[in-house]
Amino acid sequence: MTHTNDARTDRNRIASALSPAALLALSTLEDVGYEAWVVGGFVRDALRGVPCSDVDIASSAHWQEAQACFRDAGFKTRETGTKHGTLTVIIQGEAFEVTTFRTDGSYSDNRRPDSVSFVSNIQEDLKRRDFTINAMAFHPKRGLIDPFHGQEDLEAGIIRAVGNPDQRFREDGLRILRACRFASQLGFQLDPETRQAMWVNKVLMNRVSIERITHELDLLLCGQHVHHALMCTSDVLESILPEITACKGFDQRTPYHIYDVWEHIAYVVQNTPPNRLVRWAALLHDIGKPSAFFTHEDGVGHFYGHARISEHLARGVMCRLKMSPGFIEKVILLVRIHDDVIPATPRSVKRALAKLGGNTELFRALCDLKRADALSQAPHCHERVELADELERVLDQVIASDDTFSLKGLAITGRDVIAAGVPEGPEVGVILQAALNAVIDEQIGNDPTELQAFVEDWVRSQ
Ligand code: ATP
Ligand code: MG
Repeated sequence: MTHTNDARTDRNRIASALSPAALLALSTLEDVGYEAWVVGGFVRDALRGVPCSDVDIASSAHWQEAQACFRDAGFKTRETGTKHGTLTVIIQGEAFEVTTFRTDGSYSDNRRPDSVSFVSNIQEDLKRRDFTINAMAFHPKRGLIDPFHGQEDLEAGIIRAVGNPDQRFREDGLRILRACRFASQLGFQLDPETRQAMWVNKVLMNRVSIERITHELDLLLCGQHVHHALMCTSDVLESILPEITACKGFDQRTPYHIYDVWEHIAYVVQNTPPNRLVRWAALLHDIGKPSAFFTHEDGVGHFYGHARISEHLARGVMCRLKMSPGFIEKVILLVRIHDDVIPATPRSVKRALAKLGGNTELFRALCDLKRADALSQAPHCHERVELADELERVLDQVIASDDTFSLKGLAITGRDVIAAGVPEGPEVGVILQAALNAVIDEQIGNDPTELQAFVEDWVRSQ
C-alpha cells in the first residue's frame, strides 16, 4: 500500500468513528469562519481502531465566540472550564468539550499554568499536550496533523513526552501519573528519556490534588495491561504509594508462591475483572505481608495475620486518597477475609456473607479475588480457582433458598434487643450478629419468638 493510501485509510477510519453530532459540532464552528479540530484521546483511539466516546475539540474561537455560535445554532452550552478556554456544548444528547487553541504560561506550582494565552493555530496548541500519541489533531476534510510523529509512536507502542520530558513533567506532575495510566490502558513501553524524567520528577506528583491522583490510579488499575504498568512504573508509583516499597523483591519463601509479593500483587490485579472495587482490593490484599513474615526453622515463610495488617495499611492508603467511606469499607471487608478458608457449603457461605454485611455482590467480588489469587500463585495452586467457582454456585443456591444471611433478613431488629433491656450502643449489634450466626448454624429458627428467647438468655447470662 502506498503512503497516500495509508493516509486515506487512516482518515476514513477516524472520520467514520465520528458521530453525526461530533461532525455538527465541528461544522457549526467552521461555517462561521472558525477553525475546529478533533484532538486528544479520540484521535489516538480511532487510529488504534478502538471505540472512544469522549470527543474533545480544539478551536480558534474564543469560548464566548464559540458559545454565541452554538447558541445561534440552537445548542445548549455549559461553562465548564472557561478560565482555561473550555466550554461544553450538548448536541443531540452528546457532550463535547470545546477548548480554544492555547499555550500554557509558566507553571510555578508544578501543576497548573499561572496563565493560559490563546494562540491562533492548532500547531501551537498541540505543543502543550502531554504525549505524542495525544498530540494529534484531525479534521474530516483537512485530515490528520501530527507534528510530533504520534502515529509512529502509536504503531511502535511508545509513550513519549512532547518536547523536553523533564520540563514537561516539571510543568505538571500529573503527567507522570498519566504516563503510568496510559502504560496500563495501552500496554505501551515508556520511551527511555521520558521514563528517566518521570523518575527524576516523581515527587512532583505530590503537588497534584488528591482527587486527580485517585482518578488516575482508578484508570491505571482498571487498565487492560495493569500487570505491565505496575511492574514497569513501581519505582515512580512508590512516591504516592510508599506501602508498595516493602513488597518489591520480597521473597515469600513458600512452595505456594513463585513471585515476590509485589509481582504476585500485580498478577492478582491483572487476573481480576476490570472493576474498581475488586482491583483496589487486589492491589491492597497482601500489602501487609512483609510485616507479617516469619520463617520456621526449615526456612519456609509464613504470613499469619497478614490480612489484618493489610487491612490496616489499606485503610491508611484509601483515607489518604480521600475515597468515600462506603467504598473504603467494602475494600476493607474483601481484604480482611480474602484468605479465609470457606468450605463450599451453604452454612459456610452464609457465615461469610454475614461477615460481608449480607452483600451478595461483595461475595462475588470475593470469589473474583480468590480466583485471581489462586491463578497468581504456583501452578499447583491454580486448582483453587474451581473452589471459588463452587463457592459462587453455592451462593446462587443460598440466594434461591431464601435463607437468612444478613441482619436485614433477621426476624428481629435492634429495637427488639433494646426492648429486652440492652442499652443502646455497640452491644446491640454484637447480639444481633450472634443471633444471626445462631440462625445460620440452625441452632434456632428465624422466628421472632425463638429470637426473643435467644436475646433474653443473652441478657440473663451477662
Ligand atoms: P481519555 O479521555 O481516554 O482518558 P485523553 O487522552 O482524551 O484520554 P483527557 O484527559 O480527556 O485524556 O485529555 C484530552 C487531551 O488533553 C489529551 O489527549 C492531551 O492531549 C491533553 N491533556 C490532558 N491532560 C493533560 C495534561 N495534564 N498535560 C498536557 N496535556 C494534557
Ligand atoms: Mg478524553
